[in-house]
Amino acid sequence: MNRSGKCVFISHCLLAQVAVAKGLAKFSPAIVKPVIQFCLDNDINIFQMPCPEIHCEAGGVERDLHGKVWYENNGLRKTSQQIAKDQTNYMSNLISAGTSILAIIGVEFSPACAPTYLNKGRTIIKDKGIYIEELQQELKLRGLQIPFIGINQRWHKKMKKQLDELLI
Ligand code: SF4
Repeated sequence: MNRSGKCVFISHCLLAQVAVAKGLAKFSPAIVKPVIQFCLDNDINIFQMPCPEIHCEAGGVERDLHGKVWYENNGLRKTSQQIAKDQTNYMSNLISAGTSILAIIGVEFSPACAPTYLNKGRTIIKDKGIYIEELQQELKLRGLQIPFIGINQRWHKKMKKQLDELLI
């Protein structure tokens, strides 16, 4: 059987909601099914990136919910830089081997993994998570262009549309 050359890199918690901060797993108990089902249905390989907030010293598995400013002051940038370097190496090797990375799938409103939107108080603002900033910087340094999409489980229709567009 031929191996599929299509893949996505996804935020860790899309396959493991146990990774999110306390009280945040409101829509899925374990995996985010629409994303994973989409990959299953279309023979897309899944690369699960490490969770920056778990790996950050001030974070961890049992962490409470914090915002971008708190994480900026508590080491998430350094942790994110290291993960971003490692993941970019991985992506670069895959691309050199002929693999097609359809997208990097992050999680909107995460202070680490949001590609486009964050919360500021009760307002939604356009901003990126710290890990996504570092990953985009690292990809730019290597001259790699990979699309980013942001998942939000409340925006079900939008999530489906974003995933379907990866196949066009
Ligand atoms: S930091 Fe990223 S991978 Fe970790 S729980 Fe938040 S969105 Fe998921």
